[in-house]
Amino acid sequence: MAITYELIKQCSKTGARVGRLYTPHGVFDTPIFMPVGTQATVKAMSPDELKEMGAGIILSNTYHLYLRPGHDLVAEAGGLHKFMQWDRGILTDSGGFQVFSLGPLRKITEEGVTFRSHIDGSKHFLSPEKATEVQMALGADIIMAFDECVPYPADHEYARQSTQRTTRWAERCKKAHTRKDQALFGIVQGGMYKDLRTMSVQDLIALDFSGYAIGGLSVGEPKPLMYEMLDHTVPLLPSNKPRYLMGVGTPDCLLEGVMYGIDMFDCVFPTRVARNGTVMTSRGRLVIKNAEFSRDFRPIDPECGCYTCRNFSRAYIRHLLKTEEIFGLRLTTTHNLHFLLNFMKEMRKAILDDRFLAFREEFWTHYRK
Ligand SMILES: [Zn+2]
Repeated sequence: MAITYELIKQCSKTGARVGRLYTPHGVFDTPIFMPVGTQATVKAMSPDELKEMGAGIILSNTYHLYLRPGHDLVAEAGGLHKFMQWDRGILTDSGGFQVFSLGPLRKITEEGVTFRSHIDGSKHFLSPEKATEVQMALGADIIMAFDECVPYPADHEYARQSTQRTTRWAERCKKAHTRKDQALFGIVQGGMYKDLRTMSVQDLIALDFSGYAIGGLSVGEPKPLMYEMLDHTVPLLPSNKPRYLMGVGTPDCLLEGVMYGIDMFDCVFPTRVARNGTVMTSRGRLVIKNAEFSRDFRPIDPECGCYTCRNFSRAYIRHLLKTEEIFGLRLTTTHNLHFLLNFMKEMRKAILDDRFLAFREEFWTHYRK
């Protein structure tokens, strides 16, 4: 096994749990948030800065790296870790999500997906075997099976056929995957249908993956529906394997996801909104570009210990963003990532002390959506 999961503490009242993930590039405590480095870089951050914030694993996108600079080039450079000088964990997605998001630019068959590059319109083909080959060349610690993310809304028949194909594709990924120093995760689909989620979990467990992701959530459905799906799906997953909820990264969703027993999360949200001038705090979001902050000389979040909050005021950061200074983006990105990584750390502490529900209650008292 390339990675192993050790359960450290199970919350006595909820599904929340603290665990430890052993990977070829370090040992990380879960639940964990993975910053997204689409193009082999977490935008605006150096690897050292990420480490200083306590980032353990980052996520990189197979679709983007396959198109540019190409997986062969990354392999030639010695793999993704060496290429980008990141010696901690990396997870790559399968490229499926991006390819399916291309809409009219792609065509699905049982064999795989034909698509046109969003960059130059060139024609490509991604199959379970190809997605696995690309991810083996990139060399992340954890790679994902090639799946179709069932869109929302989708009727039961479409969701069933798509989910069954995802399982067949997962089996092909497993056959194609030969790197022993890499873990392959299966992805649970099933749309918003409990019977299909159950079917998907059972079929994937039979294939025995190193971990299980829950895909097809946070795709536009109302949050209560997402929570209903988590409540149904997570308990079906084996407790001795990591569980990863894909594409979720707001504090409220992280908190609820942890409560249902999720161990890993990723999302472009904190870094993307940072570059648009929105910052996260324990009280909710601030649009730091707004005029109300022009003479606000307090830090973004007085309770935050990040480099940005220790040194700079809202007024200064607003000024940098208004004048389109690069440093402004670095400051907001630093804060948002530090904030979320620290939030995960506090949740782990609360679970270890068996006071997760009290922690959750306190969060909701202060947090404004
Ligand atoms: Zn901060």
